[in-house]
Amino acid sequence: MSAASSNLFDDESIRPTRVEVDLGQLSRNLAAIRAHVGSAKVMAVVKANAYGHGLVAVAQEMVRCGVDSLGVALLEEAVILRQAGITAPILVFGGIAETQIPIFIRHDLTLTAPSIDKLRLIDNAASSMGVTARVHLKVDTGMERLGIHHYSAEKLQQASLQAKHVQVEGIYSHFANADAADLTHARTQLERFLEVLSFYEKHSLPTPLRHIANSGGILQLPESHLDLVRPGIMLYGVYPSEECARSVLIQPALTWKSHVAYFKVVQSNSPVSYGSTWESDHAVRVVTVPVGYGDGYFRALSNKAEVIIRGQRHPVAGRVCMDQIMVNLEWGTAYYRDEVILLGKQGKQQVTAEDLANWAGTIPYEVLTNINTRVPRVYY
Ligand SMILES: *Cc1c(COP(=O)(O)O)cnc(C)c1O
Repeated sequence: MSAASSNLFDDESIRPTRVEVDLGQLSRNLAAIRAHVGSAKVMAVVKANAYGHGLVAVAQEMVRCGVDSLGVALLEEAVILRQAGITAPILVFGGIAETQIPIFIRHDLTLTAPSIDKLRLIDNAASSMGVTARVHLKVDTGMERLGIHHYSAEKLQQASLQAKHVQVEGIYSHFANADAADLTHARTQLERFLEVLSFYEKHSLPTPLRHIANSGGILQLPESHLDLVRPGIMLYGVYPSEECARSVLIQPALTWKSHVAYFKVVQSNSPVSYGSTWESDHAVRVVTVPVGYGDGYFRALSNKAEVIIRGQRHPVAGRVCMDQIMVNLEWGTAYYRDEVILLGKQGKQQVTAEDLANWAGTIPYEVLTNINTRVPRVYY
């Protein structure tokens, strides 16, 4: 094991509240995705601190496993990867500001061109730097987020032929609900995208790398795999939604744990935590665990979530505080420093990202990306 985000402390003295990431499981998930998509290339999506798993360590593992490229949302994320010595291709999905363009180019990053305006700005910047910028065109086929509308895309494609300092390496779109049970909208998006792509054949031009599939598309729409797929959540062993087909077997790679910091007996009718929202009508054993909403353990989990201690599930009692929670053991036993599983497995019990999402009224994506950076990440 190695502690990554904390060089102040050795492995024994880092905070007991920590995230442990099984890098081997990440590589098995990647292998399962690869086997499923056949000849399509795989871009590992590592935005938002690799869905909470740790940006640099996960990216390094993906590169070690021979992934074709990496995808991030922000320029800043991509620059951190370059500074960590990663030389693999990195596509930045997000919108770009004009002043950022030279930084992209200097770090050899792949830009997203969502409009003719932005494409021209990239072309001009590359020209004045005397280099060629690598670009993927972004087409909006029904997400209404970023990209030229599919019915206007030909103008962007035409403009890209004139941009002499731009190499159009790829063209992509993004699904709004490829993880749903009803795939009507996703199929419409795919049809629109294929129509846009027919431009290249019509003009006998080489087709750039075509990609649209996120985890939902990978799992449910094999015809959307095209030249490259962009798995995010499923790389981390979590399915994108409850109704999504589980056509690839994956397993979570992240365990979020802490330990028992304090033990006490709470007498009957003695309310626990802020707002006095919980009390028992009989004396119970209650432990305090040093994790809170300041770590990303949602306050919405108050009086809802369960944790695992000594192989048993126990409920959170009262409000989640910024740095601590209380857990009702009833008559169960626990001692100071016993392991507490917030997310993950212990013995026969498991708390999943889906469980936490359901208790907190959100989705597993937010549970994972919300784990704060003050929680040290440990890799094995
Ligand atoms: C986040 C993101 C993905 C990955 O989505 P998942 O649902 O996590 O697989 C793929 N492509 C783009 C453009 C994204 O922003």
